[in-house]
Amino acid sequence: MYGVKSKFPNLPEEISGLGELAYNLWWSWHPQGRELFKSLSRTGWYLSGHNPVRMLHQLSEEALDAASKDPHFLRHYKAVMIRFQNQMDPKTGWFCNNVADPGVGTLAYFSAEYGLHHALPFYAGGLGFLAGDFLKECSDLGVPVVGVGFMYPQGYLRQRITPDGWQAGACELVDRENAPIRRLLDDKGEPVVVNVSIGKETVYLEVWKVEVGRTSLYLIDTCTEHNTPENSCVTDRLYAGDPESRLRQEMVLGIGGIRALSTLGIKYSVLHLNEGHPAFAVLERARDMMAGGLSAKEAFEQVRRTTVFTTHTPVPAGHDIFPHSLMKRYFSHYLPSVGIEMEAFLELGQNPANPGGFNMTAFAMRCSAHHNCVSKRHLEVTRKMWRHLWPDLSEDKIPLDYVTNGVHVPTWIDRRLGDVIFTKYLGRDWLDEHDNPAVWGMIDDIPDQVLWRHHCAMKRMLINKIRDRARHLWLDRERADPSLLMSSGLLLDPSALTLGFARRFASYKRPTLILSDIERLKRMVNDTWRPVQIIFAGKAHPDDQQSKMILQRVFNAAREPAFGGRIAFVEDYDEQVAQYLVHGVDVWLNNPRPPMEASGTSGMKATLNGVPHLSILDGWWIEGYNGSNGWAFNGALGGESDLLDAKAIYDMIEGEVIPLYYDVDEEGIPHGWVNVMKEAMKMTGPNFSARRMVKEYTEKFYRAAISAAVSRPTGERGWSRELGLDPFRGI
Ligand SMILES: *Cc1c(COP(=O)(O)O)cnc(C)c1O
Repeated sequence: MYGVKSKFPNLPEEISGLGELAYNLWWSWHPQGRELFKSLSRTGWYLSGHNPVRMLHQLSEEALDAASKDPHFLRHYKAVMIRFQNQMDPKTGWFCNNVADPGVGTLAYFSAEYGLHHALPFYAGGLGFLAGDFLKECSDLGVPVVGVGFMYPQGYLRQRITPDGWQAGACELVDRENAPIRRLLDDKGEPVVVNVSIGKETVYLEVWKVEVGRTSLYLIDTCTEHNTPENSCVTDRLYAGDPESRLRQEMVLGIGGIRALSTLGIKYSVLHLNEGHPAFAVLERARDMMAGGLSAKEAFEQVRRTTVFTTHTPVPAGHDIFPHSLMKRYFSHYLPSVGIEMEAFLELGQNPANPGGFNMTAFAMRCSAHHNCVSKRHLEVTRKMWRHLWPDLSEDKIPLDYVTNGVHVPTWIDRRLGDVIFTKYLGRDWLDEHDNPAVWGMIDDIPDQVLWRHHCAMKRMLINKIRDRARHLWLDRERADPSLLMSSGLLLDPSALTLGFARRFASYKRPTLILSDIERLKRMVNDTWRPVQIIFAGKAHPDDQQSKMILQRVFNAAREPAFGGRIAFVEDYDEQVAQYLVHGVDVWLNNPRPPMEASGTSGMKATLNGVPHLSILDGWWIEGYNGSNGWAFNGALGGESDLLDAKAIYDMIEGEVIPLYYDVDEEGIPHGWVNVMKEAMKMTGPNFSARRMVKEYTEKFYRAAISAAVSRPTGERGWSRELGLDPFRGI
């Protein structure tokens, strides 16, 4: 048996449940949970960075003792604990009532990153948040899932900008003792160790557990004393740069992840690969099935019928390709154990349109019978990109489907908006029924001034937060620099129309597009009566010099006196900064180069909170835009497209956005604008929630995969028929 240890020796018996609660991220999306910790100590909550594990470690014995004797706190504690325990029951929820017994349908979900909370910095961007939101929603719906990923001891980059605008920053070591994460121990209290062969060597893995409501996330970690120094750094940080390190990472994630599940005795019937990084998991899973008596051919077919693969990007750099020489070096020892010859294996990873390496997406597509894209538009693009994998099928017959991404509503909705305004106007059960369009129809009943006052309060909170950071910068002797201070948003004005642009700084997302016509932009931001301001945030990948240069251009605009302090760059974009921004800006700006943004999710977080989207028609916005819930334009084609797209944005801002925003009644309420806000919210809840997404995955894929899992392989729907390829021809 394996377990975890509670680590709060100071916690009095009467409130010992706080220990379990602190280690379950349930509190991160249930305000009652957060309130309970906050009521224990408001200062402690603030000083711990809203992390209850750290807070319980920091609070004095006296403070905890006092709470355990305070009748008011005890009542509150009991009420929250009962609610928490009721919601942990695995035998309740939508999945149990509608799909399958949770004992039959367990799903193993593999992802290289997870964005769950800022205390766990194991993400780079949207892919991670999608995975995090997915787990939380599975918990809410009772979908039995175990997540598998990496414990990155160095987390992800803490961004620091130098006064000349260069992203310096360093990876900060994750404070394991104080994060809501625990090492799995065996019955002797020793760390569980899983071993996995990588090439000719054995790599040892430890396993950490994160509890995400009813679901568990297992994070594997190579940083243990059993490993050689070289092997111990495999999981050091997200997305290692060179192909060999990357291959080793992906072998550890895929093969090591499956081995970890078997070592822990976790049974699952369906495997879901979130992007190609963990795709080697199919090999180890087939090996497990062969150990259970299936032939290699049967095992691979069974794996294929029960595997779901989601591809997330048309950007070429998002698809790992490994040189054959490397693959041979790392897999020649492994392949005999799964009954595949090297040549056939390399063929499984061959992209016919671009042969010459082992392509993880091609491999994952071939090894899964259920595969999907993340928006309707992305499906069209992906069909074209990968049609060579199905040489005998016409494009419209290619067995690819789509499930548009969605965001976890309880995580991304502002608490005051949800608890106070929605509860009053949409009804007490609005959150339980938030994928029901009828609930959102009642948004129209919210009086304009109520919504507008709420929004203005959120905007003030955002700007106060930004100024507070500026103040801390000024207080920090080493960093107190006028350029940094000016660019950090010190002069932002809560009454000016505020655009937000926050996401990873990748060149296809074109962060500098809005800066294309400096003169026109200056006129807009410096308008005396109807000014515009822009808040930027985002990180460049630490190895990506080009993106760092883009970031520098944005920073230079932010400190440029001619913009009058109306352009700001907020350092260290993370989950917490994202929450402030998607709640508090007026417009969410999105202008990637089409068709590169497969879906995008930050815009959904904004529209959920009544922040309209101004976006190029790409990704999810093609499905979301209806003419009255935001603004949209078609991307231009050809060499001038950047200039033309920028012009389209300026025209729209000047011609539509500014006039609507500043058209207010005598009480200062812009009714036309509030109407766009309402339309934006009405569209988001039912269509772009993680709830809709998880249900759709279940209906489109999991049901079929679960029934395949409980039947024997038939030999009918094989590789050869669909793919014109037979990796077992030699057998
Ligand atoms: C939602 C989110 C993202 C994804 O944003 P996109 O605009 O979809 O790329 C990235 N980072 C953080 C911190 C987020 O919250």
